Amino acid sequence: MTAPAAPGGLLDVSGLSVHHGQLQALREVSLEVPAGHIHAMIGANGAGKSTLLRTIAGLHRPSAGSIRLDGADITGLRPERRVAAGIALVPEGRRLFPSLSVQENLQVGATSARPGRWNLEAIYDLFGWMRDRRQQRAAQLSGGEQQAVAIGRALAANPRVLLLDELSLGLAPVVVRQIYALLPQLAASGVTILLVEQDVSQALAVASHVHCLLEGRITLAGPPAELTGAQIEQAYFGVAAAANGDATRSAAAVAGTGSPEADQSPGVST
Ligand code: ATP
Repeated sequence: MTAPAAPGGLLDVSGLSVHHGQLQALREVSLEVPAGHIHAMIGANGAGKSTLLRTIAGLHRPSAGSIRLDGADITGLRPERRVAAGIALVPEGRRLFPSLSVQENLQVGATSARPGRWNLEAIYDLFGWMRDRRQQRAAQLSGGEQQAVAIGRALAANPRVLLLDELSLGLAPVVVRQIYALLPQLAASGVTILLVEQDVSQALAVASHVHCLLEGRITLAGPPAELTGAQIEQAYFGVAAAANGDATRSAAAVAGTGSPEADQSPGVST
C-alpha cells in the first residue's frame, strides 16, 4: 500500500449536506474509507449517490460539512486541485470525448496528474485490448470498452482515491463482471475506491464496507457479511416501502434467492 493511513479514513467525509437549489440532495452524510479499501454506496434512483461523488470531486459545493483527504481539508478546493491532490472521478455515463482517440482521452486524464505508476503503458497493460486500439475514436468503442477507457482516464491522474459512479449502467452482466473483477487489483495496488451502484449484488460482492443512502441520508452501513438482505432492503427502500410490500419482493433478490420477477427490482441484476 503506497498511502500512509490517515487517522479514520484516507477519505473522510463528515456531516456533508448538499442542496440543488431548494432540493436537499444530501443530509449530514458521514463516512470514512480507509486506504486501500473498496467501499460501496448503494441506493435507489435519486438517493443522492452521484451528488455525493460529485461533491467529493469538487463539482458541487456543500452547504455544510467537510471532506478530508489523508487528514487535509479539501472541502474548498477547486476540482482540478482535487485531481492534483489525488481524487479522480469516473462519472456516470463515462463522458468520454467521442471524437478523440482512446489515447487522447487517456491523455486528458493525465492533465493535473500526480506522479505515479499509472502512465499510458501501465494502463495498456491493465486493459490488454487497449494498446492496439489506442488510435481508434472513442465513439467507435462498445459500452464496456468505453467504460474501460473512462477508468483508464481516471487512473492516468494517479489517484489516491478513485470515485466510480454506476460502472454497470447500460452494460451487459458479463462486461460488468469483467470490469468489477479489476477493482480488487486496483485496491491492492494502493488505490482507495468509493463506488456507487444500483446493482446491489455487484456492490456487495466487491466492497469491504457498504453504505446505503435513502433520500440523502445514510440509513445503513457495515461489512456486507454482517448485513442481511432484509436490513439492506429496508435501508434501500425505507420503512414506508417495506410496509406496502415493495421491499418484500426484492429482499429475496438482494439475498440472492430472488425469482426472475424479483431480479427486476432496483439494484439486483444477478
Ligand atoms: P441516480 O441513480 O438516478 O443517478 P442518485 O442516487 O445518483 O440517482 P443524484 O443524481 O445524486 O441521485 O440526485 C439526488 C437528487 O438531486 C435527485 O432528486 C436529483 O433529481 C437531484 N439533482 C441531482 N443533480 C441535480 C442538479 N444538478 N440540479 C438539480 N437537482 C439535481
